[in-house]
Amino acid sequence: MKSLWSDAEAERYVAQYGPRFGEDLALRTYTSRLLGAEDRLVLHGGGNTSVKGHHTNVLGQSLPALFVKASGHDIATIRPEGHSGVNLEYLKTLRALPDLSDQAMADEFRTHLFDPRAATPSIETLAHAFLPAKFIDHTHADAILALTNLADGEKRAREALGEEVIVLGYVRPGFRLAKAAAEAFEAHPGKRGMVWARHGLVTWGANPREAYEATIEFVTRAESYLAKHASKPLIVTRPTSPGDAQRRLGQIAPLVRGLLAQPTGDADRPYRRVILHALTSQEVLDFLGSERGKEIALSPPLCSDHLIRTKAWPLWIATPDYGDLEKLKGQISQAIQEYSTEYQAYVGRHAARMPSGLAPFDSLPRVVLMPGLGALCGGKDARAARIARDITAHTLAVKAQIAPLGAYQGLSEEDLFDMEYHTLQHAKLRADELPLSSEVAIVTGAAGAIGSAISQELLEQGCHVAVTDLPGDALTSLDEELRTHFGERVLSVPLDVTQADSVSSAFETISRTWGGVDLVVINAGAAMVSSLEEMSLEGFQRLERINTEGTLLMLREAARHFRMQGTGGDIVLVSTKNVFAPGAKFGAYSATKVAAHQLARIASQEFAEMGVRVNMVSPDAVFSHGSRKSGLWAEVGPDRMRARGLDEKGLEEYYRQRNLLKATVTARHVAKAVLFFATRQTPTTGATLPVDGGLPDATPR
Ligand code: ZN
Repeated sequence: MKSLWSDAEAERYVAQYGPRFGEDLALRTYTSRLLGAEDRLVLHGGGNTSVKGHHTNVLGQSLPALFVKASGHDIATIRPEGHSGVNLEYLKTLRALPDLSDQAMADEFRTHLFDPRAATPSIETLAHAFLPAKFIDHTHADAILALTNLADGEKRAREALGEEVIVLGYVRPGFRLAKAAAEAFEAHPGKRGMVWARHGLVTWGANPREAYEATIEFVTRAESYLAKHASKPLIVTRPTSPGDAQRRLGQIAPLVRGLLAQPTGDADRPYRRVILHALTSQEVLDFLGSERGKEIALSPPLCSDHLIRTKAWPLWIATPDYGDLEKLKGQISQAIQEYSTEYQAYVGRHAARMPSGLAPFDSLPRVVLMPGLGALCGGKDARAARIARDITAHTLAVKAQIAPLGAYQGLSEEDLFDMEYHTLQHAKLRADELPLSSEVAIVTGAAGAIGSAISQELLEQGCHVAVTDLPGDALTSLDEELRTHFGERVLSVPLDVTQADSVSSAFETISRTWGGVDLVVINAGAAMVSSLEEMSLEGFQRLERINTEGTLLMLREAARHFRMQGTGGDIVLVSTKNVFAPGAKFGAYSATKVAAHQLARIASQEFAEMGVRVNMVSPDAVFSHGSRKSGLWAEVGPDRMRARGLDEKGLEEYYRQRNLLKATVTARHVAKAVLFFATRQTPTTGATLPVDGGLPDATPR
């Protein structure tokens, strides 16, 4: 591992943050980010850093301060404010206590912050306070975890890192670890760093570069040691190629996702679903297909910091039968049940130590390991699933690496439980949940006016949205626009609704990305202006393919998908007021949309037994959403303007005046109607919700 320190970058940080926060905190920000950028040192918000300095209060008094990473901040992206200032003199006096609970410790931190609005300092704050160095860096480096999870790990760590490093056995993070670290430091003067077995590395220095480069140096020593001693790879007995794994994944992910959904007891929202991210790299497949894969995978985790994301152990599916999906479902279902029973027993064994205010997690696994397919990692949203996936990737790689070195000896069950149910760890998980947080939607025709508004609305409600349309600039620009705001919850998938292969492959792509689909919004459509007398058959057939066959293909694929997933689902068809009140010269559109509408009504009858609701929204005259014009507008707008002798504004006004409420109907209104069904406010299926300002002749009947 190389030091990435750059004098020029350091100066840039000082120039940017120095005037407001001081040089120390500016540089603290710089090297924290350097550490955070290396995933072999820390993963997703792990690790913490500090600097000691002073705080000037309102009386002008200068008080010793510890600026330490606060929870909720990730050192990879931290800003100076991400290090909360705490009264250092006071923190040091806490060392006299015989013990201090996590909650009491957090309370002491909060009541001794210099800024009452600052975030709660890290669980490891007291270690930073009790160790005297000015700059302290703490990471959960893979190579340190690799060495110290071996049965003779402490000896190995000494061998690998040399005399300049103190090696401390595992101590539960919090007050006790801080005290033990301070005592070890005082007992071994003149050292440059400290290993915390099965936890990580601490280094220090008088300046940020010294502390940072000590981390790099010691981790490099550990990596070199491992490279020298652990070169024998695992023996693969069941090889799989990533291509085969990906192919299986697209079909099987919904099945696993369905089985991992948690029943809620609420008839309208019967499942709490998960988002699944998969690992199908050759490295992971080799691990899972190796002789010792199961034994190694089921050993305790490398680092207790990971437990709230992955639980203490993964679920292993012994010999998945990919040739028989019914049998496979039975295998996974039974394995999950056994896992749940075991998990409940584990929680039961330690229930007496459950901190007040915490309740047990659900008993389902977070990580499912399937030889021949890969690792499926679950979380409440894409971010949580990605964290579980990255931790799993590192865990499997490190465990594979040290397997030839000797016996693995991870944390005890007590220690695992204490960190899985740790008050301050749970604080990291609390976040406001939006109504569609763990759900996945596919929207067809997403690049148009109504489709883009629906996609945006669903994303704002926490949903993961696959925006689909014909490939091209409109889809690309929508993808870019939505990603800016909603990041990894956006997936763009090119889709031609008239092609069955294209439709099924879109569902597979989404399943490979997030595990499955819960909401299908059938919105793609096309319009044509022509009298019957002059209508071309080809034109009619084109609309028939898009509006009718496209709807049929989406309904068919949705049904197959929902049956496989087994947790119900929702379908919303964007219909039209023309179904009820057709207009002259609009026969092709009205007739093909009527057929689509009727198919959706049939679907509501056929799919109800699967817990799938099918509803329609019928808008009138929505021609744009922001800069996006609808296809309907392109076709109808110019003709209607010509026919009525109106300009664009005039035509909008014409449509407004023809409804009872004199309302301008927007794409956003249609999106809200879709949301009504997607959030299942009422037990309704087969219904049509008009979004038209009130048109008596178009009232559904
Ligand atoms: Zn730590």
